Amino acid sequence: MNMNGAKNCVDLLKDKINRCGKVLGGNVLKVDGFLNHCVDIPLMAEIGRAFAKIFENEDINKIITLESSGIAPAAFSAMAMGVPMIFAKKGVASNMSEGAYSSRAMSYTHGGMYDIFISREYLCGSDRALIVDDFLANGSALRGLIGICDQAGARVAGCGIVIEKKFQGGGDSLRSEGYRIESLAQILSMDEHSIVYAN
Ligand code: 5GP
Repeated sequence: MNMNGAKNCVDLLKDKINRCGKVLGGNVLKVDGFLNHCVDIPLMAEIGRAFAKIFENEDINKIITLESSGIAPAAFSAMAMGVPMIFAKKGVASNMSEGAYSSRAMSYTHGGMYDIFISREYLCGSDRALIVDDFLANGSALRGLIGICDQAGARVAGCGIVIEKKFQGGGDSLRSEGYRIESLAQILSMDEHSIVYAN
């Protein structure tokens, strides 16, 4: 893992989480103040550069994410790497002219399953994709996106996560299956009084 170039970004991110994050019930970390609602653009630019550095040897040609909260870090990663970003849409794919790859994921914050789609026009067998998302908890969102890449025959070169809640196990389960998962802030435990990081 090449986290050297990301050290500054990790410190900025953890500082921001400590100052603005709020731990809610159900192991939800609310970060609306800089990531999920109001977006800290200079921090997103740092995050994009960090992922570009971490995955610089992976020959990535597309960034894949899930609407809506993955779009900000994914867009800045795409900018830093000079590649397109495609976000999977939630809901009905009726207006996708060439048909779509689809998968299902469990919503961590809202509960229940939902369908996600990427048009066949934008992902193909020669692609090497980097999946970027805001959070990694149980791994359902990543598995949904990996499923879409598999349908397209695209290779998943890695997954870049802004905040991984390691105690929920989704990341380590995917790592044990051989996926390269790199997360910037790695949370070991959290409650309303403190957040403990692994890094
Ligand atoms: P997973 O599918 O890994 O269980 O959860 C990841 C997805 O759920 C992310 O795309 C993210 O949108 C959402 N999520 C999971 N945990 C949290 C959290 O603690 N806070 C917020 N804001 N979103 C979360």
